[in-house]
Amino acid sequence: MRIVHVAAEFAPIAKAGGLGEVLLGLTRELTKKGLDVETILPKYDFLDLSKVQNLSIEVPHFKCLEHQNAMWSCKYEECQLHLLEARHPAGYFHRGKIYGCEDDAARFIYFSRAVLEYLALQNKPIDVLHLHDWHVALCAPMVRNLFHSLKVKSIILTIHNVEYQGKCAVADLNQIGLNGSFYLTPNLLQDDHPKHPSTINLLKGGLIFSDALVAVSPTYAQEILTPEYGGGLDGTLRKLRSKIVGILNGIDEKSWDPETDPFLPKTYGVESALKGKQRMREVLKLGKRPLIGAITRLVAQKGPELLEEAIEITLKLGGSYILLGSAPHAKLQQHFDQLKKKYQGNPQVLLEFEYHEALSHQLYAALDFLLVPSHYEPCGLTQMIAMRYGTVPIVRATGGLQDTVFDVDDASTIAQKRNGFVFRDKTKESMQHAIARAVRLFVSDPATFQSLIRRGMQSDFSWKRPAAEYIKLYRSKSALDINPIRINVIADRDQRIQSGQ
Ligand code: ADP
Repeated sequence: MRIVHVAAEFAPIAKAGGLGEVLLGLTRELTKKGLDVETILPKYDFLDLSKVQNLSIEVPHFKCLEHQNAMWSCKYEECQLHLLEARHPAGYFHRGKIYGCEDDAARFIYFSRAVLEYLALQNKPIDVLHLHDWHVALCAPMVRNLFHSLKVKSIILTIHNVEYQGKCAVADLNQIGLNGSFYLTPNLLQDDHPKHPSTINLLKGGLIFSDALVAVSPTYAQEILTPEYGGGLDGTLRKLRSKIVGILNGIDEKSWDPETDPFLPKTYGVESALKGKQRMREVLKLGKRPLIGAITRLVAQKGPELLEEAIEITLKLGGSYILLGSAPHAKLQQHFDQLKKKYQGNPQVLLEFEYHEALSHQLYAALDFLLVPSHYEPCGLTQMIAMRYGTVPIVRATGGLQDTVFDVDDASTIAQKRNGFVFRDKTKESMQHAIARAVRLFVSDPATFQSLIRRGMQSDFSWKRPAAEYIKLYRSKSALDINPIRINVIADRDQRIQSGQ
């Protein structure tokens, strides 16, 4: 079975968050299980290509509209990658970052089309074209309406976060040779928000034209059908609910393994967890108080106000607090910079604002508790990574957090499953109650605390089970003789535009 993934990230060579890790972990496991798997991503200017093997130019020149591109191929460990070098005059992937440019929509629309031009040149049948998030969602309508020669049996779109949708203008579609105004109708790519009738929504195009949609946890698959979590697309998603499934992400066991982690001064397993964690604490000079921390992007989704409130709550309970956060927005960054000044010189509070891979590994090892107070969390990897490192999660019950963390005091869950602390409301009080219970257990019941460490470390958060679920979905979709969703009138017009008629 030939599976082609298309995405904006692939860890560790291009990682901004969980998306890149999912691509690595999932494609590695699918390859191990014998599938023919490739991943296509942009050849960003900042890629660290010292980490890849067999880098070579695969197609030196191919055109996307009037622009030249090249396709590179390489391997990252067992994963087969293709890196698309866009020689577009706007320097779309020469910006030193994955996201955060004003023309992000135009950049990824161009990438989507160039990927399909490359696949059309290859002329090799594809069983599943697996798309990830809004960045490449436009591939779905383009495959069905424009690239008729492409032999794609089925298209699957994984929704990693429905809040990010790639909203843009009709002109952005025109730019890449599509007839933008034809897509601007409620049953195609017109944004569902009543106040934005002239906005194109790229994610919506992917939702409508894919054969199956995967939400990254069973709870998130339900949540996105509601106005609270659907990001304005809940109406469309409710109509499409029969093709939505929830598959919980895994974590890449090789990247996240305290027994082999090169970033740790002393690696450790289940039996040596306390010693290994203690050594990490000494190296980072973190003391012996109960240590609560968070490792997160600092964006509204992650509950930044709760992450801030947690500092004083932790101090009052006699603990120490660490936040490793990366803030993509200047306003929030300034706010947290002020906070850092306020706590300067306080040995019980450490606030670090950067994206620091090595430090993140060390903190997962050093912490007693990882706090994840997200307003919403499609899956969340940090709570699973934490448990693998023997760090007990304190989370808000939403999305994948609800599917992976079970409260120690919840009598409705079997005792062997209980592995952390859970709070329901998005309030300081609700979080405070959970943190207080956690610290109390740490101080007064070390035996139970240690059993939580052990339970987390022995849990299977690998990609084995999720990859098996994806394979089942691939088989069910590519075996069916799917009648592709096509809109021929658009296809005809697009083709005329494409051929300059
Ligand atoms: P999201 O994808 O929404 O950011 P996830 O929990 O799915 O959240 O994945 C976050 C990933 O990014 C984890 O691997 C986490 O360790 C990493 N991460 C987040 N912030 C930082 C940071 N400031 N420094 C290093 N790693 C980070």
